[in-house]
Amino acid sequence: MKVLLHVCCAPDGTTAFKRLMEKGYEVWGYFHNPNIHPKSEYERRLDSFYKLVRMWNLKYVNAPYDPSKWFERVRGLEDEPEGGKRCEVCIRYNLTMTALKAKELGFDCFATSLTNSPHKNLDMINSIGEDVERETGVTYLKTFFRKKDGFLWSVIRSRELGLYRQDYCGCIFSLKEKIEERGRKVGEGSTGSVFQRES
Ligand code: SF4
Repeated sequence: MKVLLHVCCAPDGTTAFKRLMEKGYEVWGYFHNPNIHPKSEYERRLDSFYKLVRMWNLKYVNAPYDPSKWFERVRGLEDEPEGGKRCEVCIRYNLTMTALKAKELGFDCFATSLTNSPHKNLDMINSIGEDVERETGVTYLKTFFRKKDGFLWSVIRSRELGLYRQDYCGCIFSLKEKIEERGRKVGEGSTGSVFQRES
């Protein structure tokens, strides 16, 4: 069975690739993330994905980067908090584009590494995946990668591999939230380092 895996970032990709390959799938990565802003950050995360691909000798399909289409979809949802309606639309877009690419290339199914993130609602992601399956006719693999120490494993492994780990989810709105949070910490006189997160 050939699966096209939407890879949201290289660190989350480690557990996702490993778990799916252990189940016997032929896994191809698809770094479709036009939500990532600015472009320099997108390129940094993409380079990290390529680094993982090279080190683990993985297969992948090139994805376009067209933020204008993403911005069209989230128009009116700019002020939504992280985890709200904007995120639903964002995840739906990336999963739909992954499913359509899987269909075009004759893959059997698709999945996403997003379920490795400790910051995401897994039920929401899997429910969107099932919607996309109904809409596109491409089978969605329901996953819970972060469970059973999946997230912990990805943190340790990506550190060993020297993979870049971002400190905000990806879009300009999540970046603004992160900058405001940093400002509050400076205002409060915090000397602690900024929490490193994955998407
Ligand atoms: S916070 Fe993350 S999931 Fe939500 S819209 Fe922004 S990039 Fe997408």
